[in-house]
Amino acid sequence: MSEAELRRRLNAVKHEQFPWMAEVTKCAPQLAIMDLGVAFKNFFTGTAKYPKFKKKGQHDSFSISNDQFSVKDQQIRIPVLGWVRMKETLRFDGKIMGATVSRSAGKWFVSIQVEMINPEPIHHGENQAVGVDLGVRNLATLSDGTIVTGPKPHKALLYRLCRLNKTLSRKKGAKKGETKSKNFTKAKRKLATLHARIANIRNDALHKLTTDLTRTYPVIGIEDLNVSGMVRNHKLARSILDMSFFEFRRQLEYKAKITGSVIVAANTFYPSSKTCSTCGYKMSDMPLSVRVWTCPECGTEHDRDVNAATNLKNMAVSSTVTVCGETRATRPLHEAGTQHQSYL
Ligand SMILES: [Zn+2]
Repeated sequence: MSEAELRRRLNAVKHEQFPWMAEVTKCAPQLAIMDLGVAFKNFFTGTAKYPKFKKKGQHDSFSISNDQFSVKDQQIRIPVLGWVRMKETLRFDGKIMGATVSRSAGKWFVSIQVEMINPEPIHHGENQAVGVDLGVRNLATLSDGTIVTGPKPHKALLYRLCRLNKTLSRKKGAKKGETKSKNFTKAKRKLATLHARIANIRNDALHKLTTDLTRTYPVIGIEDLNVSGMVRNHKLARSILDMSFFEFRRQLEYKAKITGSVIVAANTFYPSSKTCSTCGYKMSDMPLSVRVWTCPECGTEHDRDVNAATNLKNMAVSSTVTVCGETRATRPLHEAGTQHQSYL
């Protein structure tokens, strides 16, 4: 079915079947249909699973294209709604491409896509490369020995989370088939707010770290973690998920594009923890409980995480070249480190 055909069919039934659609702008379903087209394309090329239905009330959002809204200072004009005040002004200069309005835990958000033409890379000063070892105990350890202790929001708020979950399950409407009571809806909203708070604490720490890193260092070496392999270890699972490694990588990569930093990710099997960063000796085994160790070859005493971060830094340095003050990766981003494997 073509995009136009789908739109025609929706318009034919929407007044009868989805009367609430009249409350929002006509443009919202247009972009949703285009998104569906992309989803099916990804499905047919095998890069994604079959698209799932979206349910009203979950991940509520709609998108508008740039000809349908305008931004002025701290206000945005949204079709049907008119001028809406925003909490902050748009921080990026460039052509506005579109916007998505979403609601999360009772709060409304708008994310505005801006096309930036060659953002001016940040001058990183005399700082050189850094290696970052993400950990379970601490959010990150840098190769210069800096330890970034991340918040562990789950541990602190877990008790409240349990309580709220329990309260929710006792409310009328919690069982399948029961009509949702007012108290159920209230309890559910409370729970959603707490979940959002936990996510906010986590995201804040991650954003601060990734912003700092990309603003300070021109070359950043990171580990390409096999997260699915690690989560199988149940004791670590919660903390690891807490620290959201994937999100770290995502943020680092998009921020590096703005500041002009180069991110070098080690191969998944690169033994950054097991290798002595001083002489290159490779230990056969390095259990997670070992925090400090001494290299049998050169006698250097290593802090586990600092040593791993140093290895990542060295790996990043040897995979980049600096030409006329501009740093570039010598190998494609995701393949860096593979070469190391051969001689380690
Ligand atoms: Zn050594």
